[in-house]
Amino acid sequence: MAGLWRNSLRLQKSLTSKMQTRNLNLMEYQSKNLLDKHSVCVQKFKMVENKEEAQTVAEDFRVKEYVIKAQILAGGRGLGHFDNGFKGGVHITKDPKKIFPIVEQMVGHRLITKQTPKDGIEVKKVMVAESVDILRETYVCILMDRQHNGPVIIASPAGGTDIEDVAKKTPHLIQTTPVDIFEGVTDAKAQSIAEFLQFKGELKNKAADEIKKLWSLFLKVDALQLEINPLVETDDKQVVSVDAKLGFDDNAKFRQQDIFAMEDATEMDPQEYEASKHNLNYIRMDGNIGCLVNGAGLAMATMDIIKLHGGEPANFLDVGGSVKEDQVFHAFNIITGDKNVKAILVNVFGGIVNCETIAKGIITACRNMKLSIPLVVRLEGTNVLPAKKLLAESGLQILPASNLEEAAQKAVSALKQ
Ligand code: GDP
Ligand code: MG
Repeated sequence: MAGLWRNSLRLQKSLTSKMQTRNLNLMEYQSKNLLDKHSVCVQKFKMVENKEEAQTVAEDFRVKEYVIKAQILAGGRGLGHFDNGFKGGVHITKDPKKIFPIVEQMVGHRLITKQTPKDGIEVKKVMVAESVDILRETYVCILMDRQHNGPVIIASPAGGTDIEDVAKKTPHLIQTTPVDIFEGVTDAKAQSIAEFLQFKGELKNKAADEIKKLWSLFLKVDALQLEINPLVETDDKQVVSVDAKLGFDDNAKFRQQDIFAMEDATEMDPQEYEASKHNLNYIRMDGNIGCLVNGAGLAMATMDIIKLHGGEPANFLDVGGSVKEDQVFHAFNIITGDKNVKAILVNVFGGIVNCETIAKGIITACRNMKLSIPLVVRLEGTNVLPAKKLLAESGLQILPASNLEEAAQKAVSALKQ
């Protein structure tokens, strides 16, 4: 179930973003650097990447208590665990000598959380921050919302925990406030959100102020999402953004070059990174049938039919409408780069796409990479007849299919042979 949920979330994310684009997400430490630059209240922190740095980090960073946080592009770290058995991606200690053994358990190991793939994500960087004494945890997220045709601020006094759980079990603890993009977050709006978050007295003003600063950052950097979970109230009466996640609109890349330069390719799925370089829309799944499809709708239908016939898709790969022969080659490379793939299904409806281009791409790919797993091809539409002829005369072991049903059946049964 968790896998399916993740797949559907990732798919949704991909499909709601413009085709052929990939939106940038930043890790906590990068997001907090931006927050800090925009005067949002965050904890002081240092970054460590190796044992030497972990041993010396506390020398010129003396605080009462440290919070040590594994950096990955996924949330739920506090409740996560590592592939070496170490529990929790967020640790608190007063003893500077404990920093090293904790970092040692994190760096180079895979952290598994509710939001990561099953085998987790390798931790390469760890944040060592000044811990704050938390009295209360709240939730604030500014996001571009299609339903409201613009930005909204989602707020909850029940922060820190899984916000999806709060939405399910206690929906009255979540408030959504649409924001007029031209008017922005007025004082009255910020105060009313701070009140809903149950900040009282002077703290209410501080929280409202933080919310306004978060809004101005959101606007300035062309963010799609700015999530603070938790936004906390401390025992010394501060309002602090303790965890931050920022996501950006790729369409804004041209005017946010400093931010996009922060993208860390080593944090991306290598196949997804390769796909983005070739303008292919690829999302990895947990199954074993690799799919090459054109158009998101057809990709979804293909995955549904594979599942209907008892198979599991290994990926979502949409080559788009203006696909070139070499992109088909790269698409095959990316699909077969996933070692779980045991059969490939090509399902292309040539409206704008020329089936001959696809056929030529398939032939080049099969020949160059000496494809050894079953390949089912269903082509329909523009120039389908010469395309089929090319495939038939190629001498390659290709299983042709004349409709989607047959294609899915053939792919699933090819796995059993
Ligand atoms: P996430 O689990 O990936 O969302 O990571 P967070 O940064 O949100 O940390 C998880 C939880 O750890 C928070 O909800 C807090 O309860 C706790 N935590 C994080 N930082 C601090 C801190 O500085 N002090 C204290 N006391 N708790 C913290
Ligand atoms: Mg969090």
